[in-house]
Amino acid sequence: MERTFAILKPDAVERNLIGKILERVESNGFKIAAMKKALLTKPQAEGFYYVHKERPFFGSLTEFMCSGPVILLVLEKENAITAWRDLMGATNPEEADEGTIRKDFAVNIEKNSTHGSDSAENAAFEISYFFSELEIL
Ligand code: ADP
Ligand code: MG
Repeated sequence: MERTFAILKPDAVERNLIGKILERVESNGFKIAAMKKALLTKPQAEGFYYVHKERPFFGSLTEFMCSGPVILLVLEKENAITAWRDLMGATNPEEADEGTIRKDFAVNIEKNSTHGSDSAENAAFEISYFFSELEIL
């Protein structure tokens, strides 16, 4: 079993899409190992996305990520990291495959409804950024 870290971003929570997205999570065989709702502070969002700090969209992205509550998730499945990124679809919903979460729900390339770790190393960092081992069941 592999773990990945996911976020239901403010645009998804705000549009009452938590249930619809979690239905896809569970029906695609992921176990929800940890879950909580949070309102990120700007420093928390900046620390989480520090790998993107030189990107032109960093300011706007971190503002967006603390503009409303999010759902933080640890997901478990075989090859969870790749499987969750496949289920999310491409970063830009205009380029996302049919049937993916971002194709079906994202507003635009920034407000793209979900986050998913892109490597084992980043998944470990991102999980530990928000959850203690005792909260992951
Ligand atoms: P992903 O979330 O698919 O791993 P990235 O790690 O490249 O994508 O980017 C992190 C997040 O930053 C994206 O999910 C999206 O919310 C935002 N983002 C990425 N590229 C852009 C862009 N060109 N313009 C605005 N926001 C962007
Ligand atoms: Mg990424």
